[in-house]
Amino acid sequence: MPAIFKIRSRLRTLLSPAVTKIELAGLVAWMVVLSIDPKTTLDLSNITITIFLFLVWHIHRKTASFSIWRVLGGVYVLLLSLGFGNVVATHVELRVFTLPLAVIIVLSSAILFIAVQDYLLSAALVWAVMWPSLDLNLYTGLRAYLGIFSIASISIGFILSFTYLRSMRSILMRESEFRTLAETDFLTCILNRRAFMDTFQRALTEGCSGYFIMLDIDNFKQKNDQYGHDVGDKILCSMAACLKLTPGSHSVGRIGGEEFGVLLLGDNNVVAHEYAMKLLANIRGSVLHPHQYTCSAGIAQFSANSDMSAVLKCADSNMYKAKHDGKDRVFQNGERVVPLLRTTT
Ligand code: GH3
Ligand code: MG
Ligand code: MG
Repeated sequence: MPAIFKIRSRLRTLLSPAVTKIELAGLVAWMVVLSIDPKTTLDLSNITITIFLFLVWHIHRKTASFSIWRVLGGVYVLLLSLGFGNVVATHVELRVFTLPLAVIIVLSSAILFIAVQDYLLSAALVWAVMWPSLDLNLYTGLRAYLGIFSIASISIGFILSFTYLRSMRSILMRESEFRTLAETDFLTCILNRRAFMDTFQRALTEGCSGYFIMLDIDNFKQKNDQYGHDVGDKILCSMAACLKLTPGSHSVGRIGGEEFGVLLLGDNNVVAHEYAMKLLANIRGSVLHPHQYTCSAGIAQFSANSDMSAVLKCADSNMYKAKHDGKDRVFQNGERVVPLLRTTT
């Protein structure tokens, strides 16, 4: 997933609890206003607004869609403004409260939005909805102050929203960079042991079945001793490239030193064997003479109920059988996996 989408969804996760609480506070305030004089305030339009407010609040909390979540923040603020605007419009004596109400809604909604432009649009709409309910006679000769209040409330809300979102984004960007660093093997740029094992554990927890392949480069110490550590490092990088480029794996990682792991999902032995044979062939041809190298592989099958350490042990024991049998081969269940002879027609 691209970093920007990861950050957007993390930002939503962080904002959601505050958004839910602020919206609930707005709902409670709305219900309190309705309950003061229900005979005159509980008309059809206000009942409709109340139902929609509850619906929007509920869906806003639960929706999995980012776009719907983003739009519903604005819909909620607009509905609340419409509701209060409606009550004030039908109760002339309450018109004195229109100005503070609009200012409160505009300011308190500053942290409801994930983008500053969403906030600005919503704040402008709040003023547009509330403005007709203002009793302009109250402000004869003072109308310039109304303009100042509306512009000041939007500006303060804008600064709040902008600085809040910018700080959150930069914190989340840092967090994402650190997470990538913590999960990536420095030399080969594939998953490191911890991240790979986490992926494996997640697959088991989610009820996946599949194959774990343990791979170990053959005679690697000799390569290091003969050609130097820099060549050894290049071989490790070439091994990682083969793992990334051989199609069919769910996840690959460097488990340590010159040992690597592959996760395959599914329960087809033939597919797993073909993958392992293809991978070993790619590895064999990946580096030119005299640095060419080979690799031995041990396969262990797993299912949802498998114990991860038992699977690792099984793959490890098969891998050592491959070593003892002469290296550059694949073993499963203590037996050598041989290439399937395909018949051509
Ligand atoms: P076998 O075929 O039985 O696996 O023998 P081997 O020589 O591959 O295995 P051994 O365990 O004897 O040697 C592993 C070597 O891997 C020893 C260590 O110096 C080297 N090694 C571990 N990590 C790195 C690394 O990051 N870079 C380099 N260049 N070498 C490393
Ligand atoms: Mg080893
Ligand atoms: Mg080795």
